[in-house]
Amino acid sequence: MSQHHIQKIVCPKCAAQGEMTIWDSINVQLNPELKDKVMDESLFTWTCPSCGHQVYITFGTLYHDLAGQFMLFFDHKAEDNDLSEDAFPDNEAFAQFNKNYRLRYVHGIHALKEKIFIFDEGLSDVVVELLKYFVRNQVIRINESDPNFLIGKAIYFTNMSDDGEQLIFALVSPRKGVVAHFGLSIDLYEQCLQKSILDERFKQEKNCIMNVCYEWIDAKLKSSK
Ligand SMILES: [Zn+2]
Repeated sequence: MSQHHIQKIVCPKCAAQGEMTIWDSINVQLNPELKDKVMDESLFTWTCPSCGHQVYITFGTLYHDLAGQFMLFFDHKAEDNDLSEDAFPDNEAFAQFNKNYRLRYVHGIHALKEKIFIFDEGLSDVVVELLKYFVRNQVIRINESDPNFLIGKAIYFTNMSDDGEQLIFALVSPRKGVVAHFGLSIDLYEQCLQKSILDERFKQEKNCIMNVCYEWIDAKLKSSK
């Protein structure tokens, strides 16, 4: 079940009062329209009933895709990269989760949409983060004339190419939005997948909420095997 509550909003432009629906949890099988609203971010857009002014209001939510076997604990703050891996409450209601169920902390709207893109494509977010990690650490080559090219910019997986041969990533600047796209071959992904399966450091614990991000990969790679 998707759950929500109503919050009063005061328009910053005309001071009129209105209400906004804040979704505490989203079940995409029961409410597929809410997924669309997450993806186009209209879920986080409030329109003043008096003057039509639009305000972007983010809030944390629990995004649950039962068919896709994943649950995302979304925190709208992008900066927080707490690497904790918490055990999921041992509750009968969650006994249905098998070993393959992915439980993730996600920080920031870009990361939330990225996780959904990744899992919708049937990809491993651990492998996608590994690829992003290696790109970030070598990428200065992408733009040799400007060694600072990547500083402050984030990399997000967006989609598979039409022929299914490449994973497409966007390079996002906080001020300018998407500044470039690049692709990595599915072969590279498969090689990385095989290696990661054999690497104990990337094993997923049953019912453990993981924060799979750059810092998590960095910490895992720096830990001993
Ligand atoms: Zn207004």
